[in-house]
Amino acid sequence: MSQSQWTAVDEYLNNIGVGEDAVLKRARIAAKDEGLPPIQVSPAQGSLLHLLAKMRGAERVLEVGTLGGYSAIWLARALDPARGHLISLEVDPKHANVASRNVAAAGLTGVVDIRVGAAADTLEKLIAADTEPFDLVFIDADKESYPKYLDLVLRLSKPGTAIIADNVVRGGSVAVSSSADDRVQAVQAYLKAVADDPRLESTVIQTVGEKGYDGFSLARVTSV
Ligand code: SAM
Repeated sequence: MSQSQWTAVDEYLNNIGVGEDAVLKRARIAAKDEGLPPIQVSPAQGSLLHLLAKMRGAERVLEVGTLGGYSAIWLARALDPARGHLISLEVDPKHANVASRNVAAAGLTGVVDIRVGAAADTLEKLIAADTEPFDLVFIDADKESYPKYLDLVLRLSKPGTAIIADNVVRGGSVAVSSSADDRVQAVQAYLKAVADDPRLESTVIQTVGEKGYDGFSLARVTSV
């Protein structure tokens, strides 16, 4: 299969209504118009996150890496508007501003709480504040920090918490043990740490689509 075929299938799925609606499309285009890089999850991946959050019955979601709020909107829409809460962490104030506007346009300001700062620092603050554990965590920021994020989010988890990490296949580079790429090495360390941790059960879903060949790590916390 070629990239053009993967993209065509994603477009087909989106056109039959599996993917984004007008609100999500506007959020994606607004981020692009503001000059943010188009590196958000694809509509099919956003839809997967939405369904996973619903299947988990999530009320509290933590996201590491907001960008323009596209995946945050997908995830927040899976939550009960009265009880749901999503905290999303973003280091770039411009990205956080665009995300805040997109979240407001989606009618989700009361659910989504965007915290600006380096995610590791914000996670430490959430831990220090004895923050109630999350039901689902989505890690999608700087790849080099994934192992650190795993350590930190485990301290904000409980039995049953789902921990999802994006971009863990990296076009197949994850299988190259001699890779000199820092991001590949960090993802390899993340996947090994998840697989070796007795508190976690996990798998990796390889994905192909408009964003190329990549994948999600899915883990479930069994004990803390
Ligand atoms: N989850 C978003 C979506 O699908 O709509 C995409 C997130 S994008 C791949 C990664 C984001 O992480 C960028 O907005 C980037 O600025 C942010 N980021 C990078 N390093 C970070 C850090 N140390 N702390 C917090 N955010 C960071």
